Amino acid sequence: MKKINLILSIALLLLLLIAACQKATAYSYKIDSDGCIACGKCFEACPHNAIIYQGDKAFIVQSKCTACGQCVSVCPENSIH
Ligand code: SF4
Ligand code: SF4
Repeated sequence: MKKINLILSIALLLLLLIAACQKATAYSYKIDSDGCIACGKCFEACPHNAIIYQGDKAFIVQSKCTACGQCVSVCPENSIH
């Protein structure tokens, strides 16, 4: 029984370690509001509806963004990094 508990503890520790590493390496895109001209191209390109407009600028809702990068390539102002 002690052996099983030890194995389960090690497995749990490994899972926590993997989750922490994935979080640490996850990149999150942001829009440079100074460069945004509100053209709407990133909004149309985002497959996860993660881009919203506030005023005349686009913003990425981080909780929805999967960092797929599709918005980056369509921005004519190169304002998404
Ligand atoms: S990186 Fe992908 S999911 Fe995130 S805002 Fe851009 S298109 Fe949407
Ligand atoms: S594609 Fe670029 S310029 Fe156009 S709304 Fe998005 S961030 Fe702004």
